[in-house]
Amino acid sequence: MTPPRPSRRDFLGTAALGLAGLAAGAPRLAGQEAKPVAAKRPPNPYVYKFKVGELEAFSISDGHMLFKEGLGLMHPESDRPRMKATLEAGRERTDALPLYINILGLRKGDEVALVDAGFGARHPWVQFGWMEEGLAALGIRREQVTAGFLSHGHSDHLDGFVDGDKPTFPNAKVYALREEIDFWRAPEPDFSKTRRDRKPLPNMVRQARKCLDILERHGRLEAVRDGDRRWHDAVEILAAPGHTAGHACYEIRSGGESLVHLSDMVHHHQLMFEDTGWTIALDHDHEVAIASRRKLFKRIAAARARAFAFHIPWPGLGTVVPKGDHFAWVPERWSWGS
Ligand SMILES: [Zn+2]
Repeated sequence: MTPPRPSRRDFLGTAALGLAGLAAGAPRLAGQEAKPVAAKRPPNPYVYKFKVGELEAFSISDGHMLFKEGLGLMHPESDRPRMKATLEAGRERTDALPLYINILGLRKGDEVALVDAGFGARHPWVQFGWMEEGLAALGIRREQVTAGFLSHGHSDHLDGFVDGDKPTFPNAKVYALREEIDFWRAPEPDFSKTRRDRKPLPNMVRQARKCLDILERHGRLEAVRDGDRRWHDAVEILAAPGHTAGHACYEIRSGGESLVHLSDMVHHHQLMFEDTGWTIALDHDHEVAIASRRKLFKRIAAARARAFAFHIPWPGLGTVVPKGDHFAWVPERWSWGS
């Protein structure tokens, strides 16, 4: 059952209660838990800590959602029976597609970088908009964030970088590929190759432009190019177009280790791996997205690289291994550290 959507006031009250619980650090006994928290907060952790070389790293859950359209969102349509068989073989639900929202955070000394920022406070719903609480649980203040990497201009990635009419992180430069910024600002953005529902497109464009304008007006937006490195040279921008015109992935390097961020190359932990030609309706250009996915998966599999994925089950850490002509996602085992 879906709990009722709380008002913003409810949400903030709930958030405060949730953090108080975290700060106390003591497990709550049944019956001690305040009712609204039990109803609205996830009972399990939503911040996972790990390391990339010298860097502290975090997977912060901004929430999760379900695409009720299920396989109706997947293409090509003629392959849907094969997709259904794949899900059934993996004992996965076939009536709806789960979507996770995993934000990667990196910390070096006092400075923090974020890769994408989730839905933000514009969406203070039960299922998402949790990033800010995640940052607070890690003891990170907004002022400490000095870099934001924007993979593309969809709301689940961009909106969290803006709070009202101001940048959420006053000291952060937000880096996006030039092609992505130009796409949203074009007089008529080209959606001729997408298979998504067209009705929300005008709103989507308006919202992306608004966020980009706010960041720019405050001197916070910087256009970058494929292969550029930012934030102590630790983050390399990898152009991976298709999902959007200027969609970016990233390679994070530190102390001889690396982590490849898959951004929106995948929206499900089985489907886009089992057959790299399977795409989601939300892609702006399906053929280009397939080519980018194959190129990146080959690179990760050949290098046996560690990977992080924005939309697959939290915390989204794992690797991509060859499987026949295609690939499989192998999640990394949870580690409690030493
Ligand atoms: Zn997304």
